[in-house]
Amino acid sequence: MIPITTVRFGAEEERRVIDVIRSGSIAQGPVVAELEDRFARMHDARHAIAVNNGTTALIAALHVLDLRPGDEVITSPFTFVATVNAILQTGATVRFADIHDTDFGLDAESVAGLISERTRVILPVHLYGQMVDMAPIASLADANDLTIVEDSAQSHGARYRGRAAGGFGLGTFSFYATKNITTAEGGMITTDSDELADRLRVLRNQGMRARYEYVTVGNNFRLTDLHAALAIPQLDRYEETVRRRRANAAALTAGLADVPGIVTPVTFPDRDHVWHQYTVRVTDESATTRDAFPAALADRGVGSGIYYPKLILDYDAYRGRADVAEDSTPVAARVAAQALSLPVHTELLPEDIDTIIAAVRDVAAGR
Ligand SMILES: *Cc1c(COP(=O)(O)O)cnc(C)c1O
Repeated sequence: MIPITTVRFGAEEERRVIDVIRSGSIAQGPVVAELEDRFARMHDARHAIAVNNGTTALIAALHVLDLRPGDEVITSPFTFVATVNAILQTGATVRFADIHDTDFGLDAESVAGLISERTRVILPVHLYGQMVDMAPIASLADANDLTIVEDSAQSHGARYRGRAAGGFGLGTFSFYATKNITTAEGGMITTDSDELADRLRVLRNQGMRARYEYVTVGNNFRLTDLHAALAIPQLDRYEETVRRRRANAAALTAGLADVPGIVTPVTFPDRDHVWHQYTVRVTDESATTRDAFPAALADRGVGSGIYYPKLILDYDAYRGRADVAEDSTPVAARVAAQALSLPVHTELLPEDIDTIIAAVRDVAAGR
């Protein structure tokens, strides 16, 4: 079976983790600092603040914006649930703008229609490794004095017109096991603001500036040196990782571009896609429905994933709440019924790509 994702560490990760174990200093320390420094430089950010996962990265980033109940955050309805859970933790209200079916990201026109005096934040999600069309969103934020928080959990190192993910405001990243860079659990926040970076560092460590000197009500959002050690070698080879993912994506698109019922991923010349996922849309022309696709592919030895099968508002837990507006997003609804991710990871062999292409062709044709 060709898996949809793999986790593979090398000798360098082992060595660095053992070094941390032997150092006797395993919690947040010099290795976390090294990871922050390198991650900031990779994203042209003044500051990177490591935290213990991508969800707490979002929670912390929104927390330092001092949102109050009734303040609104506009985000995508087609995302991992963490995006919305983090907004709700701050007491703010979630508004859903519609998305484009090309880059799966926020549609600025739809965002504009939701902006009111209650709006504080626009929270685009850079899904699958490709950034949202940020220019019109940045203009809206400028014109309306809003902050941008970019959920970049899937888009380490992605760029839009030369600017790195997270570079339009605050960026949040995840190092969960399936992400392009992983520490098992882990996260990062990037910002160019000295003031926000300082508040984030204090918030992450129980509100302490110096030992037992509490300057605010804080939390424990710390990453450990044990986890950070895993990420350093992955940063060393990240360019190569992305190059391989990109080559795999190009080969898949070359093999699938003419298949009726399959719409291959759309890329844009002004964006660097880091191919966290290779996501096609299965349309009505396919002989096999999207929902039946994963089992049919599995019969042919090909793993796949549906990210995400439903919109947030399709879950009862998020309906009928005063802090989740029931905005209508027809494009996102269609996309959620069509999205299907195929393996694109670095462990794929050329014959695996051929297997994936042949399997998708067969299943889409009902063979
Ligand atoms: C993975 C992910 C998160 C959450 O990150 P964790 O590290 O799992 O907490 C948030 N948003 C998106 C879009 C993600 O893919």
